[in-house]
Amino acid sequence: MPTPTAPEPARPEPHVIAVGAIQGLVDRTTDLLNTLADPEVTPDEITAVLREHGETDPATTAEDVADLRTAAGELRPVLTADSLDLAAERVNALLARAAHPPRLSNHGGAFTWHIHVDSDDEEAPLAEWFLASAGMLLALLISDRQRLPGGVCAARGCERVFIDTAHGSRRRYCSRRCATRERVAAHRARG
Ligand SMILES: [Zn+2]
Repeated sequence: MPTPTAPEPARPEPHVIAVGAIQGLVDRTTDLLNTLADPEVTPDEITAVLREHGETDPATTAEDVADLRTAAGELRPVLTADSLDLAAERVNALLARAAHPPRLSNHGGAFTWHIHVDSDDEEAPLAEWFLASAGMLLALLISDRQRLPGGVCAARGCERVFIDTAHGSRRRYCSRRCATRERVAAHRARG
């Protein structure tokens, strides 16, 4: 008799605790942070990132981009903190500013249920929504894992940040590409 096949996990990597909505939030937050790191980033580029991550009407203005860049500048220090205490302190400073009660929303059935901590499900400014949702995400990761929630890529010349959801040894690179590049470089250096 054939055994029933278990559903495929959302992500194939082993030892990943963050799946589904949380992984979606991790990917969106990381992409936004790294896209916003470019001082020349345009509203169209941000709109494209938001659309890629499931936002249905992600109209973005130049003012939104300026405010999102400020928000990214406040989130990045959480990921560059070198101790868990400091990362937690920085997350708390972000959450204290959000100051809206967490609530579940499905936008009248248009989305699956997810947590909002911004001032309005539909009308909150993009930067406020970004800061509040990323702050909540980083708080959840710290409480779940009791370790640094992310970092800056260790590859030479790469300044991209990552959010770490893997168990096991601490993640060091933003991507497989950077990890491979560094491994090849180290191999060559050994001759
Ligand atoms: Zn990298």
